[in-house]
Amino acid sequence: SSSSSSSSQSEEVVNKPQYPMEPQKPQKSAMQIVKEGLPIYKFRNQLLQLIRDNKVIVMVGETGSGKTTQLAQYLHELGYTRTGKIGCTQPRRVAAMSVASRVALEMGVKLGHEVGYSIRFEDCCNENTIIKYMTDGMLLREFMIDPLLTSYSVLIIDEAHERTLHTDILLSLIKDISRARDDLKVVISSATLDAQKFSQYFDDAPIIQIPGRRYQVDIYYTQQPEGNYVEAAVVTVLQIHVTQGVGDILVFLTGQDEIEDAEEMLKTRTKGFSKKIPELIICPVYAALPSEQQVKIFEPTPKGCRKVVLATNIAETSITIDNIIYVVDCGFVKQTSFSPSTGIESLQVVPCSKANANQRAGRAGRIAPGKCFRLYTAWSYNNELEESPIPEIQRTNLGNVVLLLKTMGINNLVNFDYMDPPPHEMLLRALEQLYSLGALNNDGELTKLGRRMAEFPLDPMLSKMLVTSEHFKCVEQIITICSMLSVGNTIFYRPKEKQVHADTAKKNFYRPGGDHMTLLNVYNQWKDCNYSKEFCYESFIQFKAMKRAQDIKEQLSSLCERVEIDVKDQSLSIYEDSSINIRKCITSGFFYNSAKKQKSGTYRTLKNSHEIQIHPSSLVFQEKPEWVIYHELVQTSKEYMRNVCEIKPEWLYEIAPHYFSEDFIKSNQKTLPKTKVDYNKF
Ligand code: ADP
Ligand code: MG
Repeated sequence: SSSSSSSSQSEEVVNKPQYPMEPQKPQKSAMQIVKEGLPIYKFRNQLLQLIRDNKVIVMVGETGSGKTTQLAQYLHELGYTRTGKIGCTQPRRVAAMSVASRVALEMGVKLGHEVGYSIRFEDCCNENTIIKYMTDGMLLREFMIDPLLTSYSVLIIDEAHERTLHTDILLSLIKDISRARDDLKVVISSATLDAQKFSQYFDDAPIIQIPGRRYQVDIYYTQQPEGNYVEAAVVTVLQIHVTQGVGDILVFLTGQDEIEDAEEMLKTRTKGFSKKIPELIICPVYAALPSEQQVKIFEPTPKGCRKVVLATNIAETSITIDNIIYVVDCGFVKQTSFSPSTGIESLQVVPCSKANANQRAGRAGRIAPGKCFRLYTAWSYNNELEESPIPEIQRTNLGNVVLLLKTMGINNLVNFDYMDPPPHEMLLRALEQLYSLGALNNDGELTKLGRRMAEFPLDPMLSKMLVTSEHFKCVEQIITICSMLSVGNTIFYRPKEKQVHADTAKKNFYRPGGDHMTLLNVYNQWKDCNYSKEFCYESFIQFKAMKRAQDIKEQLSSLCERVEIDVKDQSLSIYEDSSINIRKCITSGFFYNSAKKQKSGTYRTLKNSHEIQIHPSSLVFQEKPEWVIYHELVQTSKEYMRNVCEIKPEWLYEIAPHYFSEDFIKSNQKTLPKTKVDYNKF
């Protein structure tokens, strides 16, 4: 108002400011200098011009050039956030979180305000958020609420080269809305040189290349194939640490368990080192890592120490860690694979592609010439690795995505405009599964149940279980089980030197019915102890995993409320055995994953008589119940069921009569009779 401005003017007159004689340029902050040193900075104007003149552009640049952190800020500075948000997708949650916090820091704002992130089960944004980093899956879900994504003025589809299932589907949907919205700017960002393909898909969108700096990286191979690459990685790290000059080490392994093993081994083996050898700081990085621990990765290494980062392929392109000079590459990657012949999906460790291996090696040459140690032979690289990874859409369960597309009214999934179409039999399988779960009707249309299931960012089998929990009067318990399963296999802590204690502690949690009931028991006991840390330490339970389960539980509860499932109504009478209800409810979602014990002690799936076993980590590994349902299959030397629930055979035809007939269950038929439904029509 006028009165306040006049008072400040009069103040100025009273306290005459003293000016220096020479005009001064504003001092650049240290942060500004860092930002201007990034390769993308020189292309700022060219990039902005290109975006101004085109609806869709493709941006290619070496990892670390500044694509993810800078572009959104440039566009914000230019005013693109006046008409909507800037959304930037990431295939991985850790990347979305860490990049958002970095950008918030660079802009001097609080994370969750102007700059925020959104990942499954965690939304760190508010109504003022203008730059939003999120997982590709989260943006996909926004289509359900706002099919034209009108709240965004810019969409950056980052790490498009990863070709995750969600990114691929996003590309198709965005291609479509971009035609309908003249005000929307789209940037497809990729770290590798497959830009041509993206450009073609988007009607020959222009490509801008941001040349990165990259120094020479010498590659070393092993002479012989390595039997145990975790052990080999640890030995290599220690050798580098003892014999090589300064510089941090980045190790690529396939998953959290391997990373934890390697961490433990490194800790034990460096204990005996003489004081003359510098300290080795060990930093794990994987998808489920809690955010407070992620900060450690980016902290500069103290003088005289060396850092070793143990990472999954998240460190290939999604996050950049400075000062890496040495890379150790195990040559493998963990991914879901679907076998059309058995119809079974499982998590497998498979050789990575040449493109992955080269990307990994490149991490060593960002600041100086580096070295990459490959834990496989040169022959293997040349002859055994595929050129590039197979897009996820061609090797994974499509159930969740098909359900989502159906809710968006996209019915013809065969003729959908995919960048690379999924194999036909995988699409059919997803449709068949959704039909069996009751999410689609005989004509392939979404049912009311299907619509409710789609609200949950979960695999359809889990969402079915959640939605039917109301019928079985065990909503709260099923939410807990879902949350515990969603945390992954990190609940039980089993340190090498205390395995016996850990196993005993785990056995004490056992509840009849199997692993699901046991997980529920763990959670409830923790709850009874006021969610205490001590309880976890004493019982070899990972506190952080439990905290995460608690968060997920909260999220799932509010999603349940949204589809009007009453979380509080537990009208189960005391005479009813809740264990039976709970396991029946699990059956309603997972009857697909049922198996029967054979005389030999192994199991065969009911669906197609495929041979599988109980994973040794399961509490029913010894007991081996006759009839079981499993949560997932993992493949190592054999195919193992992880998280196993004991069931009664009659539940199968009671609960899924359209899928299993009483005859089929009671007889010893090997293969399920074919249904009359033609999923090709769906
Ligand atoms: P690109 O997306 O092209 O791979 P980024 O924008 O992610 O590049 O990173 C640019 C630079 O920002 C990196 O070189 C790195 O030094 C820095 N950086 C990125 N994320 C963080 C972080 N969380 N903490 C500290 N520095 C970071
Ligand atoms: Mg990036």
